[in-house]
Amino acid sequence: VTSLSSSFGGGARTSGDPPDHISVLVIEDEPLIARMVARVLASEGFHVDLAADGGEGLTSARRRRYGLILLDLLLPLVDGVEVLRDILARDPAQRIVVVSAVADVDSKVRCLRIGACDYLVKPFALSELVARVRARMREGVASPGGRFIHGGSVVLDVHHRMADAGRGVVALSQREFALLQSMMAMGGRIATREELLAAVWGESAHGASNVVDATVARLRAKLGDDVISTVRQVGYRFDP
Ligand code: CA
Repeated sequence: VTSLSSSFGGGARTSGDPPDHISVLVIEDEPLIARMVARVLASEGFHVDLAADGGEGLTSARRRRYGLILLDLLLPLVDGVEVLRDILARDPAQRIVVVSAVADVDSKVRCLRIGACDYLVKPFALSELVARVRARMREGVASPGGRFIHGGSVVLDVHHRMADAGRGVVALSQREFALLQSMMAMGGRIATREELLAAVWGESAHGASNVVDATVARLRAKLGDDVISTVRQVGYRFDP
């Protein structure tokens, strides 16, 4: 298993496994595709492990839960569908995106029925891959089987889009909720405005980073100033 880590713009990281929400396992036997996917995901801030066949993929997946697994179907040693079944039998909450040249509807339906959370057909645009990884990862963080997300003194109610930072329950707007959720998913690391803008507003708000500042201000007004700290000239940190 090869690891590709990227530095994160200042967030301190301890040794050992990276947290779930940034960890991706890529099970792919074509070295060029594996390397290309690993490189682009690492450049987007993810921690990437590579497995070159089904057996290696299963071994890695048994070691820990990943934020997301990208799984090729046509693999040596253990076929991708078997890998999918095996991983989900052990850990039904593991999120797996099938990435395959097999494009027929039956294969897609079969994988989604087994429990894959998405199916991306090769060849794919790297930008689409990144967008899908982010989206599926976000869903995983939002509801890893539960209604509440805890981070320090803050509790987020995913079902009702509410938050409690110890001063009572408050309702959040969609953007406020998404921003807080993104920051909580980053743990204690610093998030740049650009990063938050991309995560919450997507491509549409490119360059308009003042919406991040405005939304942070509203979150502070609702939850207390100390929930999010400002990191001068860099961005923000969830710091309850
Ligand atoms: Ca293959």
